[in-house]
Amino acid sequence: MGIKFDILAKDGQARAGVLQTDHGEVHTPTMTVNFTLALLRSGLSPNQLQALGVEMILVNTLHTMMESRQQAPDIHQQLGWSGPIFADSGGFQMVSLAKKMRVEKDGIKFTWDEQEYKITSAEVVGWQKKMGVDIIMPLDRVWHLRVKNPLAYFLSVLTTEKWFNESTGISPNIFYILQGGLSKWARILSLKFANQHLAAGIAGVAIGGLAFGEARPKMYRMIEFCTQRLPENKPRHLLGVGQPVDLLESIERGIDTFDCVSYTREARHGRLLTKHGYLRLKRSEYTNDTSMIEEGCDCPTCKAGISRAELRAGMKSLDPDIRQRTLINLMLHNIRFTLHLMEYAREAIQAGKFQEFKQEFLISFRAQ
Ligand SMILES: [Zn+2]
Repeated sequence: MGIKFDILAKDGQARAGVLQTDHGEVHTPTMTVNFTLALLRSGLSPNQLQALGVEMILVNTLHTMMESRQQAPDIHQQLGWSGPIFADSGGFQMVSLAKKMRVEKDGIKFTWDEQEYKITSAEVVGWQKKMGVDIIMPLDRVWHLRVKNPLAYFLSVLTTEKWFNESTGISPNIFYILQGGLSKWARILSLKFANQHLAAGIAGVAIGGLAFGEARPKMYRMIEFCTQRLPENKPRHLLGVGQPVDLLESIERGIDTFDCVSYTREARHGRLLTKHGYLRLKRSEYTNDTSMIEEGCDCPTCKAGISRAELRAGMKSLDPDIRQRTLINLMLHNIRFTLHLMEYAREAIQAGKFQEFKQEFLISFRAQ
């Protein structure tokens, strides 16, 4: 069937919608949660994610390719997740291997576990199709924003377009990835390609090439620059953005879905999201603190009454099992917080009160 997207309400540029896939509905705006075999093995179950309100998970294309090598798994079956699945493009992971990576005409060569591999754009999309993901992300050419040469941005746009054409043709569940960094001219070219493919029937658009540490106002302006030049009726994803403030600023500018691993990375460092900003569990003031991470939070960790002191001790435990269990408890809280924020945002858009909601949240969140 592919993807169907309906906008239920708009407030300014912010949209509340429903994304329909072969594996169920996703209410937007929302955050997809990165779910891997490693997480499954470490004790995080699909049921737990569902209970948190997760409607769509993200799988990492490059990791599944490296884990399964020859045979693409039926990804719904492998992860035990029956809902919608979104794939990442693999491009960003390859960039993070940058020193050992080389871009070739039809794909990327890189070193993994001391071995050299080459993956073409056609293989990335072919693999995602075989896995049966609901949303396909083609291989894109990512460029760090620290590269100052504007030609690099044009090259990233042109390579991404070339790879898109080589990978698939038009498919009703593929997204096009916009590149172009902070260069408006490169973005205009990328948007031109995207709009052609959208008109031909692809599912949606992802904005890539941002959130590499640029000043936030620059990122927000570029998001708006893109969303203003995209059709209303297609879903818009923002790659790699997940901080609460950025989520709300991006929703305000017309973004529908997000993916980011920041909430798990933060959990690993004992940084927990609360309405009053980050709670840094490593601080000694929490050693004997018997209160929950956040009063009134409906995540499984807070509901089970696990205290800050207990979690802090768990993080520092010498027993790896306890540390792992603690990490999952911290992640559950951060994921739930983020999804709750998305639910509130959706309600606020539907009530025509997104601005008030955003201001109120930011005042409280930054108060600390
Ligand atoms: Zn909680």
